[in-house]
Amino acid sequence: DGQSYWRRYRSVPIVYRIGAAFILGSIVGLVVGQPATVLQPLGDIFVRLLSMIVIPIVVFTLLMGIRRISPAQLGRIGGQVIALYAVMSAIAVFIGLGVANLVNPGTGLTLAEDVEFEPEETPDFVEVLVGIVPENPIGAMAEGDVLATIFFVIVFGLALLYLEESSDDETVQAGIESIFNIVEAGTEALFKLVWGIMEYGVIGVFALMAAVFGEAGADAIASFVILIAALTVAILLHIGIVYLGGLIMVLTRQSPVAFLAGSKDAIVTALSIRSSSGTLPVTMSNADENLRIDESVYGFSLPLGATINMDGTAMYQGVVAIFAANLVGVQLSIVEQVTVVLIAVLASIGAGGVPGTGLIMLTLVLTQLGLPLEVVGFVAGVDPILDRLRTMTNVTGDLAVTTVVAHWNDAIDFTGGSWADPTQGLE
Ligand code: ASP
Repeated sequence: DGQSYWRRYRSVPIVYRIGAAFILGSIVGLVVGQPATVLQPLGDIFVRLLSMIVIPIVVFTLLMGIRRISPAQLGRIGGQVIALYAVMSAIAVFIGLGVANLVNPGTGLTLAEDVEFEPEETPDFVEVLVGIVPENPIGAMAEGDVLATIFFVIVFGLALLYLEESSDDETVQAGIESIFNIVEAGTEALFKLVWGIMEYGVIGVFALMAAVFGEAGADAIASFVILIAALTVAILLHIGIVYLGGLIMVLTRQSPVAFLAGSKDAIVTALSIRSSSGTLPVTMSNADENLRIDESVYGFSLPLGATINMDGTAMYQGVVAIFAANLVGVQLSIVEQVTVVLIAVLASIGAGGVPGTGLIMLTLVLTQLGLPLEVVGFVAGVDPILDRLRTMTNVTGDLAVTTVVAHWNDAIDFTGGSWADPTQGLE
């Protein structure tokens, strides 16, 4: 009967149900074509549900994390996180360039004459740095500005801690206690919400994929197959060797399978919604509940990573730079390729984790190399596909770096079995 079907359905882990929706939706989109785009609003609801809880979850988990550490520890963790993020992004661009030099995407293609192109404004690096300090914290939260929100929450949290130590006013002490109690209850409630939203995600992801493939169609994809393949190979190498091999196995001494199993919901969500920021509630939930990392590390590193750490995006710049050069039949010198690494890393720090950012950054890279900006318009058609690969890499990188830094700072809870054993303790 209906009830037992429902129970059977619910007993399948959510990530498999969403994975099935992903595949079915893609097939429906390809078969039905344009009309499938009517499903878009159902997908938009999923993305909005996730966006809805990003800022609350960032504020709450960060406050909880700050409560547990000293300013000195916070500084050390921050330094480790930022340094690793930067190094990983640079490695990603090198891998992207290496693969693209071997595969040579773009040869044999010609730049379509009729592509329309309007350069978008690229973010200015100094402006980004200044913008970390919000003029108005409520405004920053209202606009979903994660960096500015992190800044305010950290200084506010440190002030609370300082008061807790120094004030002998009972009302103040009681107030601080209740702020932290509210935050703790709020965090729990938000993580419950994440799972409710993921239940809806089965419908949402089906709709998103049907709409994307309904719009793009198989033809558009066919001419970019080499570019898509080059990016995919580079990403698999980066995830396999650098994240799983280097960060998880060598530096953390944990099983890569267990790491992937623990991160799977974030990975699938990133593939579906193309936004690291939008995926943040799921990424945080995976870090907390599966990888059992303490808020004191992930509460800071994950929101920061969603904004400044974009390995997939940085790598993509390298791959497309070679693609663009091949399109117009020029060779990029070693010096030019190293320039790409620098610009790509800096630009990926300044750009936000929302859909299509990587495409906007491309303007910067191509301008620097003197390559035609029309390439941006040319690849825009397949960007909905490339973007989800980039975003998935970005989110996996945030989690891998977070795991290493948590390990260095003794902030992973391995009681009840290390997650080295994938059958133990997960979920
Ligand atoms: N969509 C990506 C992200 O959110 C950024 C990009 O366009 O590469 O991480």
